[in-house]
Amino acid sequence: MQLTNRAKVLEKKPMTLAERAYLPAIFQGLSITMRHFFMKKATVRYPEEVRPFSGFFRGLHVLKRDEQGRERCTACGLCAVACPAEAITMVAGERKKGEEGLYREEKYAISYEINMLRCIFCGLCEEACPKAAIYLQPDKMAPPRYERDEFVYGKDRLVESVSPDERSVKGIQLTSEQADKLRSRIVQA
Ligand code: SF4
Ligand code: SF4
Repeated sequence: MQLTNRAKVLEKKPMTLAERAYLPAIFQGLSITMRHFFMKKATVRYPEEVRPFSGFFRGLHVLKRDEQGRERCTACGLCAVACPAEAITMVAGERKKGEEGLYREEKYAISYEINMLRCIFCGLCEEACPKAAIYLQPDKMAPPRYERDEFVYGKDRLVESVSPDERSVKGIQLTSEQADKLRSRIVQA
C-alpha cells in the first residue's frame, strides 16, 4: 500500500569508465586530505597547549578561606542539594574548642568531595552557597588523569592554600566580580 506520493524512483545508471577505475575518486579524496594537512589545525595539544579561557569560564572549584585563614564552609549541604549532577558529598562535624582559628563556623566539613567526572561546571553550587565558600575558578581546569579515582577531589585539593604566595602560584584568585560578590555577602552577613 502506498501511503504518500513522495516516493522517488531512481534510475540505476551504468558506471562510466572513470567511475569504474576508481582512480579519480581516490585522487579527489587525497587532494582533500592534503588540503587539510596544510591548513591551520583546529585542535590543540592539550594539556601542553591550552586555549585562552573565555571571560565567563567556570573551572575547577576552590573552597575559600576568610580573611583570617579560616575555612568558610559550614557544611550546610546547600551546594550538594543544588547540584544537578549529584557530584558533591560531605560529612559535617562540630568544631572543637581550640579550633576557632581553623573553621569560621561551629559546624564545618570534616570531608568534602566533588567528583569532577560528574560535575558539569554549571556554577549552581557557587550560587547556592550562603557563606561564599565555594567558587569556580575562571582560569583553571581539572588536569587530565588516567585513573577515575583521581577525579574525586577532596579537601586536600579543594581548600584554598593558606599562604598568599602559594595562592598566587596556584592561580587561586578571585575575579573582581567574585570579590564584589564576596564583599557584599560579608556586609550582609
Ligand atoms: S558546578 Fe554544578 S555540577 Fe559541578 S559541583 Fe557545582 S553544582 Fe554540581
Ligand atoms: S560550600 Fe557553601 S553551600 Fe556548600 S556546604 Fe559549604 S557552606 Fe554550605
